[in-house]
Amino acid sequence: NLETRLMIQRDDEIGVLADSINHLATELQRYRDTRQEFFANISHDLRTPITYLEGYAQVLKKGLYESEEEKDQYLGIIHEEAVRLQHLVNDLFDLAKMEEGKVSLSLEWIDLTEIADNVVQKIMLKACEKKLTLRTKIITHVSLIYGDGLRMEQVLLNLLENAVRYTEKGSITLELDQNNTYVYLAVEDTGIGIPEDEIPYIFERFYRVEKSRSRQYGGTGLGLPIAKKLVELQGGELLVSSKLGQGTRFELRFVPGYPGD
Ligand code: ADP
Repeated sequence: NLETRLMIQRDDEIGVLADSINHLATELQRYRDTRQEFFANISHDLRTPITYLEGYAQVLKKGLYESEEEKDQYLGIIHEEAVRLQHLVNDLFDLAKMEEGKVSLSLEWIDLTEIADNVVQKIMLKACEKKLTLRTKIITHVSLIYGDGLRMEQVLLNLLENAVRYTEKGSITLELDQNNTYVYLAVEDTGIGIPEDEIPYIFERFYRVEKSRSRQYGGTGLGLPIAKKLVELQGGELLVSSKLGQGTRFELRFVPGYPGD
């Protein structure tokens, strides 16, 4: 009987081992799929602006336009596509550095009030162009945060740019305050919102909600994954809540003090 028991035990162990191997194989396949998808996305996103650049440059070179106005329009497209390409390359570079763990932060005590003020100045023009109201509710006495000022600005600007990009009418509100536990910075808009079932994916690389995928919105699909990583590297959290057709709220939370205290 000892023999039977040993055999059962061995069968169990083999079963566990087989499960682990299966699990590993699935993980490996998932990794391969994401990698493949990642490169397919990059190639597509790089190729599209290059095609536009090449096409319109040819049109101009061959003088295939009928008025100065038309020529200016084509030059405008070339400029837009070059900027898009520049953003994409910058984002890819940032992401690559982060994934290798090579992004170096200059941590110091920073005042989020100053950062919020700077970023509001930068986004004001874009909000005005779309006739959106830019509201700020900035409490001036929040605790200092141990973080990287420039990176924090990058994150906040990204959230505000998204808010402007995905809002057709209404307002964008930037709120800075703190409660007993944490300091928070929130960017709230009255824009197109995100479908509930897609919210879990928006922090994935290259993810774009289908409706907003069209080129009219621009964007790289890398902004949010970068933002989330940067916030986490500074010991914070990035949260989102959204209602389709009503608006979206992103919130950055930081517990004051040294990270890990
Ligand atoms: P993108 O460069 O395409 O904006 P992000 O990583 O910044 O990429 O965002 C991912 C996707 O999340 C966007 O394509 C968009 O569909 C959605 N999204 C982000 N911010 C907002 C927002 N404020 N309102 C509605 N949708 C948003």
